[in-house]
Amino acid sequence: MKTLKYSRQREAIKAYLASTKRHPTADVVYSHVQEEFPHISLGTVYRNLNLLAELGEVRKITTPDGADRFDGDVSQHYHVICSECGKIFDLDMKMQDSLNQLADHSFSGTIHSHTALFYGICEDCEKTSVQKQ
Ligand code: ZN
Ligand code: MN
Repeated sequence: MKTLKYSRQREAIKAYLASTKRHPTADVVYSHVQEEFPHISLGTVYRNLNLLAELGEVRKITTPDGADRFDGDVSQHYHVICSECGKIFDLDMKMQDSLNQLADHSFSGTIHSHTALFYGICEDCEKTSVQKQ
């Protein structure tokens, strides 16, 4: 088993992700962690984020615009991305476990789980577009 050397920087990255619901990009994580570690590099932040995601300690959300987002909440939950502002929100909705069985029937292997990213327009962006009219 891979053992990891304790890293204060990695702990700071984890702590920041645990403190926010905003599903930040690596760049945003970098700018926050920099307040505590002024000499940390963006590359180090990237490496640690990917490592934490591999270890299952944070979640990586792949988005259509290509910028990965990170989530300190590793519980199973769905997300919605706003196609106007790009913000990602948690969906307060039960996991649809029956989807796994449905997918399993259409697959020759075995399905264990699924993730989903919904697309829409957030409340704030809807309000803004109404004001423009
Ligand atoms: Zn929006
Ligand atoms: Mn989330």
